[in-house]
Amino acid sequence: MSEVKPRRIAAARQMKKVMADHFLGIDAASKDPARKVAWCTSVGPAELLQGFGFEVYYPENHSAILGATRKATDYIPHANAVGYSPDICSYLTADVGAFLQGYTPLTRAYGIQSVPRPDVLVYNTNQCRDVQDWFMWYARHWGVPCLGIQTHRNIGPVADDHVASITAQVERLATELEEIAGPLDPDRFRESVALSRRCSELWERVLCTGAARPAALTFFDGTIHMGPAVVLRGTQAAVDYYELLLAELEQRVADGVAAVEGERHRLYWEGMPVWGKLRPLSQQFLELETCVVASTYCNSWIFNQLDPDDPFRSMARAYTELFIVRDDAVKEDYIASMCEQYQVDGIVYHDAKTCPNNSNNRYGMPQRLSERLSLPFLVINGDLNDLRCYSEEQAKTSIEAFVEQLDQAN
Ligand code: SF4
Repeated sequence: MSEVKPRRIAAARQMKKVMADHFLGIDAASKDPARKVAWCTSVGPAELLQGFGFEVYYPENHSAILGATRKATDYIPHANAVGYSPDICSYLTADVGAFLQGYTPLTRAYGIQSVPRPDVLVYNTNQCRDVQDWFMWYARHWGVPCLGIQTHRNIGPVADDHVASITAQVERLATELEEIAGPLDPDRFRESVALSRRCSELWERVLCTGAARPAALTFFDGTIHMGPAVVLRGTQAAVDYYELLLAELEQRVADGVAAVEGERHRLYWEGMPVWGKLRPLSQQFLELETCVVASTYCNSWIFNQLDPDDPFRSMARAYTELFIVRDDAVKEDYIASMCEQYQVDGIVYHDAKTCPNNSNNRYGMPQRLSERLSLPFLVINGDLNDLRCYSEEQAKTSIEAFVEQLDQAN
């Protein structure tokens, strides 16, 4: 029997170009004494950095590329050897391990010899503590400043006092950045916030094409096409890209074109991707005529609170109302509303061994949501980057059994 082929997204070609321009632009900036480079966490204050004229580089994205190219597992032990445990974030350990060995996947992809040397590293602990430890490692290595925002974690409703305290931190960060980059350009800052908001709105509409029946987009497509929303938000390039992608996907919806031919079941993915196994997982769901139509992960780069007329406060709110920052009650309401919007038949939880922050199956949530929504669930044990924590055979068998269960329920 011939293998079922995934439906290609034509805009992917343009995305490759946009991402190549991004990496080559940062590489050029890092070699130009007149320009400055800032490293930023994936949900860090990118718009503020752009307001200061920094080229912004995102190590989590770099480590995801290590994972997707199945190199991460090779380099993790080199970070373990300098004291970073195999149990902590495998984005951190893969990235530091690769750096220690002088390796970057950017060489093969773009001819870039090394990750860019930063003038400053800026984190927000809104996602985890690991990003702070990760950035501090590089700050010590290069002898450059590492600045941060400490966000409240595990909160329910985001109150005005939460936002006020983060706003004050973002404002203080701006004064610290002035020492490194000179004065903030308020117009560029507002423009960046406006472009980021526009990017976010377009990205949300892209993901919403997964709500169509049949879905026009899968979670696996989303993990690839989210690149510009992560590393280019705040730029016109990201806006232009998502306008192109959205037009293609809305045409699919209008024409009733399915991302997964013969779609029989629809699933929600909670947790991180298994970067090194995206292709086989996507292929298995395709062959089972089951579409993973939505995820928490891809939706984490929607920041519709951003407001160019109130850039500091709206950034503080946008980066504090994130799913990952919130308590289980808020998370459950969010997932319940997503399951309803995308009309799913079940939920897959990825328990990522080295990321407790993005694994929401450990405190009874699957059972509570299953009861509340009358939806079956499956937990897959694995990891975002460390493939030693993932048994492909076991995951394959569990997914097959889960889909059989869905078949029987119909
Ligand atoms: S949220 Fe998880 S994967 Fe992301 S940096 Fe933190 S520990 Fe690593």
